[in-house]
Formats: sequence, C-alpha cells, structure tokens
Amino acid sequence: MRILITGGAGFLGSHLCERLLADKHDILCLDNFFTGSKDNILHMVGNPRFELIRHDMTMPIYLEVDQIYNLACPASPVHYQYNPIKTIKTSVMGAINTLGLAKRVKARILQASTSEVYGDPEVHPQNEAYWGRVNPIGIRSCYDEGKRAAECLMMDYRRQNGVDTKIVRIFNTYGSRMAMSDGRVVSNFIVQALTGKDITVYGDGSQTRSFCFVDDMIEGLIRIMNTPKEISGPINLGNPAEFTILELAEKVIALTDSSSRILFQPLPQDDPAQRQPDIALAAEILNWNPKTSLEEGLKRTIAYFREKLT
Ligand code: NAD
Ligand code: UDP
Ligand code: UDP
Repeated sequence: MRILITGGAGFLGSHLCERLLADKHDILCLDNFFTGSKDNILHMVGNPRFELIRHDMTMPIYLEVDQIYNLACPASPVHYQYNPIKTIKTSVMGAINTLGLAKRVKARILQASTSEVYGDPEVHPQNEAYWGRVNPIGIRSCYDEGKRAAECLMMDYRRQNGVDTKIVRIFNTYGSRMAMSDGRVVSNFIVQALTGKDITVYGDGSQTRSFCFVDDMIEGLIRIMNTPKEISGPINLGNPAEFTILELAEKVIALTDSSSRILFQPLPQDDPAQRQPDIALAAEILNWNPKTSLEEGLKRTIAYFREKLT
C-alpha cells in the first residue's frame, strides 16, 4: 500500500514510518519540520519506498494514497502554546485537507487524537463514552479544542461523505526520538538527570499520568488502522499503569544514577490532575495490550538520550 504519514518526521511519525517501511509499504512522509527533525528520518532517506515531502498541512495537497495517518500537530504544551493560532489551524485545517484528500482518492484515514479531549476529567479512568471536561478558553484549548474539532470533522465526513475514518485517542507516550527540547515530562526529566541539572517538578508532583512506550503505541495505531470499515472509534490507546509525577522523577533519578535534585516549580494553568486510560475497548477489538513496563521503557529511552548527549 501507499501510505501518507503527516507529521512523519516527528517522534511518533518517524517510528510509524520505520515500522510501515519494514512491513514493505510505500511511505510518503510529510512534515513542515516545526517540531520534527530530519535526524529522525535520515536513515530512511534513500530507500526507494520512502519519499519525503516538505509541506504545511494547513494548505491543501494532492497525492494518490491508500491510507493516511494524520499526525501533524505539535504535541508538547511548550510547542503547541508557542503559536496557539497555528496549532488550532493545523488540527482543523489539517483535518479538513486530509479528509478532502481521503474523500477524493477513497483512502482510509486515521486521526491521531488525544487524551486531552477529556480535559481535567471527573471520570477515572477515562473511557471512550466520557465527553470530557475541557476549558474552551484556556491556554491548552488551542490543542484540546483543535483535536475535538478534528474528531468532529472525522465523524461528519464519515456520515456525510462515507469517508473511511478512524479516531484514536493517544495517552502520554514516550521513547526515543522525542526532541531534546520537547518540554514533555519524560524527556525533560531524563535530559535533566543525565546532565546533572535539577529535575523540574511542576506543582507538588501529586498529579498523575499513565505512560505508554512508543513501540506499544505504534503497534496499536497500525491495528486500529486495519480494523473493518464499520469501526470508527474513538478508541483509547495508552498504558493504564498510573504514576504521580513525583514517582516518575524518583524513578528517572534512580535509573540514571543521577545526583540531580528535585526542584518544585509552579503548576501550569489547566494542568490535568489525573489521567489513566480505560483500554477495555482496544483489548476487545484489537486484542491489544501494552507490553513494556515503565521501568523497561525508561531504560531504553535513557539509553537513547545518553547516546544523543555524547
Ligand atoms: P511531535 O511534535 O514529535 O510530532 C508532530 C509532527 O508534526 C512534527 O514532526 C511536526 O513538525 C509536524 N507538524 C506540526 N505542524 C505541522 C503542519 N502544520 N504541517 C505539517 N507538519 C506539521 O509529536 P508526537 O508526539 O510525535 O505527536 C504526533 C501526534 O500524536 C500529534 O498529532 C499529537 O497530538 C498526537 N499525540 C501524541 C501524544 C504523545 O504522548 N506523544 C499523545 C496524544 C496525542
Ligand atoms: N483537498 C486537498 N487534497 C485533495 C482534495 C481536497 O487538500 O486531494 C482539500 C481541498 O482544498 C478542500 C478540503 O480538502 O479545501 C476539503 O475538501 P472537500 O472536498 O471536502 O471540500 P470542498 O473542496 O468541497 O471545499
Ligand atoms: N511536568 C513536570 N515537569 C516538566 C514537564 C512536565 O512536572 O518538566 C508535568 C506537567 O505539569 C504535567 C505532567 O508532567 O502534570 C505531564 O506533562 P507533559 O507536558 O509531558 O504532558 P501533558 O500535560 O500534556 O500530559
């Protein structure tokens, strides 16, 4: 198959390109290199089945493909708040353009949505039936509401135009090829620990997240893409093992054997207090379950950053 991956030079996108290339597909990797990097995909350039397209998904594009993974969108709060208008344009116009493309060439499209559509949740763990509690006017809204609008567009193109759409709600995922300056908690803590800097815990560190290793996530994304047409999602993907941010900091310090100390900093506005995926639906439909423990995934991610830093 010929497969388009928007945001293909990013963290998840580059792993997806690699896996689908290994599965013998033709890959169109599209990116505007806002947070993605050529380093992430350099090893695939030169492969005759890998094509790189520099393009901004807020603009239309005409290609012939069988499947589209729509991943283009900055994902770290630091990056998506840098130019919030551009962030929401990327989600909304990016969804419209990829859906227009999918409609024209009858391609199947998978939208990378997010646990952020649940906002600061009153339901724990979060299942797909929960509608969420998102602040529509806060500093995270450009991302959260953009992703919610993209989900709406997926469902409307499916109902109105018969487009073969899939929605996956991705929970916090980590691993190699997160940008050093990404700003998300796992990469921040590892880089701080390896360079002997203070570990910046926001708030008192009692807020929770559930961290999924990248290889497990990629397997889940591919399984969702290849479900029968009737299945539209949304489907949650993530690792239900839940940790406080303070526990994460302590784990990273122990695994890196670091002398770094914990520095408490103010909690950002609208930072969700807890987050844990209910993955019963993914287990039932996809027979999918994450295989990598936090400790094992952290070890592999630490090895990646250690090499990057030398
Ligand atoms: P990332 O920042 O590494 O990747 C995003 C990619 O999209 C980058 O390569 C960036 O350059 C590209 N991009 C941004 N705006 C673009 C535009 N206008 N046109 C073309 N390309 C553009 O982040 P990631 O973690 O790999 O996230 C990939 C997708 O998964 C995103 O849509 C994100 O919202 C979603 N997601 C990720 C997580 C996670 O924990 N990693 C969680 C939930 C959702
Ligand atoms: N589009 C695109 N590539 C295509 C087909 C459409 O980028 O191969 C864009 C097109 O520019 C339009 C959007 O997708 O702005 C939505 O397409 P749709 O056909 O739904 O809407 P219309 O063209 O009727 O506005
Ligand atoms: N966080 C932190 N220190 C950092 C970066 C993040 O304590 O250096 C916290 C952040 O406040 C949030 C959690 O870690 O509670 C996860 O943050 P991240 O930006 O990785 O993802 P998201 O908030 O989107 O889940």
